[in-house]
Amino acid sequence: EELSPVLSINNIEVVYDEVIQVLRGVSIDVPQGQIVTLLGPNGAGKSTTLKAISGLLKTENGEVTKGDISFMGQRIDSKSAEDVVRDGIFQVMEGRRIIEDMTVIENLKLGAYTRSDNEINQDIEMVFQYFPRLKERTGLAGYLSGGEQQMLAIGRAMMARPKMICLDEPSMGLSPLLVKEVFGIIEKINKEQGITMLLVEQNANYALKAADYGYIMEGGKIVLDGTKEQLLNNEDVKEFYLGGG
Ligand code: ATP
Repeated sequence: EELSPVLSINNIEVVYDEVIQVLRGVSIDVPQGQIVTLLGPNGAGKSTTLKAISGLLKTENGEVTKGDISFMGQRIDSKSAEDVVRDGIFQVMEGRRIIEDMTVIENLKLGAYTRSDNEINQDIEMVFQYFPRLKERTGLAGYLSGGEQQMLAIGRAMMARPKMICLDEPSMGLSPLLVKEVFGIIEKINKEQGITMLLVEQNANYALKAADYGYIMEGGKIVLDGTKEQLLNNEDVKEFYLGGG
């Protein structure tokens, strides 16, 4: 069956500093309510793709020079980062970017900066239900472990009440046990809250298990895409991305 995409990237090219072309015609569809993963080696252009979605290219002198990006039927490729958040897409950046000299609760409240309703405290409790150990951490966020900081970054994204969360390498720097835990929670949030997820990863094993559909990017192009099952059973994917398994 054809699922209509909530996010649609059509043949985009991205250039940094007016001359460095990094994306060379990338198309990605993310269906409503699904987890889609974007895999590929270092430097393939995965983070650049996320920055193109979230309006963050301008801060690095990058630009979408061709193609377009639509979210819920609306063009977003020339919007500011803040407008993209207001449209319902929240990005969890690589390296987590939590504010170390603020508390967990202060960090969570930052995620709600575009909201003006009075259910923010209620949503903090909702985040603590997914990440119970964050509730016990009353000190500054800088004292959290790497795994806890990743959890806080995801919780902060949830505080925006987004329709879609883009995650840039949530497994980075985490032990295999923690990666498993964090991905399990990502799946749970997707199922229970209906939040669509785009998951950028180098760790193909875990990402494909959590995802419904995957794309593989190399050298600024999509070289392969398919359902979780198709990719997990593909010989090239097994050899180059799943450790020869
Ligand atoms: P990684 O996992 O290392 O983040 P990636 O697949 O996410 O890899 P990008 O970070 O998108 O890849 O980088 C793709 C290419 O674009 C790399 O060659 C990188 O050097 C280049 N690049 C990224 N950001 C900039 C920038 N601000 N200015 C110029 N070149 C950049």
